[in-house]
Amino acid sequence: MDTTLLIVIAGLIVVLVAVGLVSARRRADQDTVAAPPRPPAAPPRYGLGQAIRRALGTRLDEGTWDSIEDALIAADVGVAASSEIVAEVRAAHPDTVEEARQGISDALESELSGRDRSLNLDGAPAVVVVVGVNGTGKTTTIAKLAKRLLGEGKTVTLGAADTFRAAAAEQLQTWGGRVGAQVVRGQEGGDPASVAFDAIDSARAKGVDVVIIDTAGRLHGKKNLMSELEKIYRVSGGDDVAEVLLVLDATAGQNGLAQVAEFSHAVPISGIVLTKLDGTARGGIVVAVERSLGVPVKFVGVGEGMDDIEPFDPASFVHSLME
Ligand code: GDP
Repeated sequence: MDTTLLIVIAGLIVVLVAVGLVSARRRADQDTVAAPPRPPAAPPRYGLGQAIRRALGTRLDEGTWDSIEDALIAADVGVAASSEIVAEVRAAHPDTVEEARQGISDALESELSGRDRSLNLDGAPAVVVVVGVNGTGKTTTIAKLAKRLLGEGKTVTLGAADTFRAAAAEQLQTWGGRVGAQVVRGQEGGDPASVAFDAIDSARAKGVDVVIIDTAGRLHGKKNLMSELEKIYRVSGGDDVAEVLLVLDATAGQNGLAQVAEFSHAVPISGIVLTKLDGTARGGIVVAVERSLGVPVKFVGVGEGMDDIEPFDPASFVHSLME
């Protein structure tokens, strides 16, 4: 074969390989551009709404009602409330699966209706004592509430009466600084009730509108903790305290009920802040708590950010529960 022909063939091969490489690269680029972004791995949701839809299936029979009751219990609504809700919906003889679903939704909403959920801010200053087990979100909730009240034009002082944990007072101080509330602290290991007293005293002297008192939440040494809380309540004005809010972690399920009972032996709980509702698809604990102890849920925590607190609204809560 002559050399010129060889050079031409070699040249052709080089050109073909180059063209192939370029178009493969272009295709790869197009693939990259065209490929939809990978969706984040969604957490498995076994919410009440799905469970009820699954239980209802396509027709209503005996088994359906049992499955619905199981779904309500699994969502923490509580055994007694679940069976009463099912009995009430059955008694209305729904004709269709959709009517039954609507009946359950209405029954849940009426369970939660008719309670005063407003935050009482009587007093000058109004004193709000916040109690709850450590880790439920007490400190975060106090900061969120302070931010909310400041946003409404009120002045706020925070009292760091959890003197058992140095970190708690630090955290409160940090949050207070961020949201713009004055923080009154005491000595580490000092008398929590005297910190509450000082915080209220300082607020009164400065004409501050609201004092929010953080308290310890250790459950070992329960007796000491409860008598400490009683003392804080007494020193903070006793019956004149505007609110005693219990912070409850929604993901704790039925354990939460035991916590409400425990704390209400020591102090008269006037409202509940249910935190971490963003972390659970259950949430039926609201019904169980309000039913068994008659204490209204006043706020819900829906995230870790300072704005992630909302006044509790039964209609939208039931709607999201039944989605
Ligand atoms: P405390 O020990 O009761 O004072 O609890 P903290 O306020 O320190 O909160 C404990 C943890 O729960 C922190 O990591 C908070 O960010 C988190 N937390 C508090 N409230 C909420 C909430 O509504 N949703 C979620 N997802 N996390 C929360």
